[in-house]
Parts: sequence; C-alpha cells; structure tokens
Amino acid sequence: MEGITIALSKGRIFEETLPLLAAAGIVPLENPESSRKLIIPTSRKDARVVVVRATDAPTYVQYGAADVGVAGKDVLIEHGGDGLYQPIDLGIARCRMMVAVPDGFDYENAVRQGARLRVATKYLKIAREHFAAKGVHVDLIKLYGSMELAPLAGLSDAIVDLVSTGNTLKANRLVAVEHIADISARLIVNRAALKLKRGQIAPLLAAISERVAP
Ligand code: AMP
Repeated sequence: MEGITIALSKGRIFEETLPLLAAAGIVPLENPESSRKLIIPTSRKDARVVVVRATDAPTYVQYGAADVGVAGKDVLIEHGGDGLYQPIDLGIARCRMMVAVPDGFDYENAVRQGARLRVATKYLKIAREHFAAKGVHVDLIKLYGSMELAPLAGLSDAIVDLVSTGNTLKANRLVAVEHIADISARLIVNRAALKLKRGQIAPLLAAISERVAP
C-alpha cells in the first residue's frame, strides 16, 4: 500500500500513542472508541491507522499489512518478534507481569516442597520460561481472559497476569507473589518497510524518539 499504515489497538495504547503520533504531524481523524471504522484516515494524506486487537498488532506488522505498530512487551514475547524491528520502548501502557495466588496460599512453601502447581494464564510462553528458569514444576492452563477467576473457581493454584494498580487482584482476594517482568509498549516496524519506505518511516521514528526521550 502507498503511504504508511500504523497498527494500533483501542484503549490505553491508542490513547497514549496519540501524542507521539502528533509529534510526527499525524492526527487520526476518528476515535476508534466511538467509530466502528477499522481503517482510520489521519491529518496526513500519506498515513492511516488500522485498528487491531492488541495481540494481532505484531502479526499485521510482521506480514507488512501495517508498516509500523505499537505492541506491549507481553504481546511481543508471546508473538516471538519474527520479522519485526523494535526500535523504541515508548514507555507507555506500563504494568508488571506477576504470579498471583489466593490470599492465604503459601506459594513459597509450595515451591520449596517441589509441589506441582497448576497455573492459569494467557501468557503461556512467558509463564513457561519463568517457571522453567526457577525449576518450578507447573501445569499451564491456557485462558483467554479473566485469569483472576481461575483460582477462585478451583481451576488453578496460581495465575500469571498483568498487574497495573493491583485493584483487580485485591477485589478478588488474590496477592502477587512474584514479579516476572516490567512491561511497557514498544514501537514495532516491518523490516522490509523500514528499507523500502525509509523516506517516510525514518522521520516518523525520529519524531517519536525525540518525543519519548527529548
Ligand atoms: P489493575 O487492576 O489496574 O492491576 O489491572 C489489572 C487488569 O488489567 C488485569 O486484568 C490485566 O490483565 C489488565 N491490564 C493491566 N495492565 C495492562 C496492560 N498494560 N495491558 C493490558 N492489560 C492490562
């Protein structure tokens, strides 16, 4: 496609990316929260935004259906990052990947005793690598949402999930017992587009990095 296509997910990433795009003179002409349009024109004729599921942003950019995009580090680790250049940590949509258990469950003791734990998560790769590095035996159960419910309903002993304020854990009487990684969103760029559309992409990267770390 002519011009540049930017893959963004609705919500926090979209909102927090707006000022960065504005620094490059790109202002989306509609808000995906109120519009049902999935391709949104911008103030620049040569730039458009495609609205994607957060977990799909790396896929659109990997295959070149979008030239650039924004994705959380959590999503990028799960995706694997093939075909993607990740030049800038945008420092937005910050949170922490944590292990959490029901209040009162002695996680340290269970680990010490070598118990086999059932862990529910959307983040299989991150969880697998974390527990393997610690030498903890786990059975991972893949979920697509509401991980906090799993221990309460008796599906798992623990969860691996993103924690921001901690309110969701607290509301469900769960406590975070282990920090796995600090998470923030990164700018991702299709490797081929970086070469073929250098004239448009290089100034965009420059404007964004200037805005992120002036
Ligand atoms: P909180 O109650 O603020 O700790 O937020 C926790 C809930 O929001 C969990 O369901 C998380 O999966 C989700 N969450 C928190 N931060 C993020 C983020 N940066 N990206 C996606 N989901 C998040």
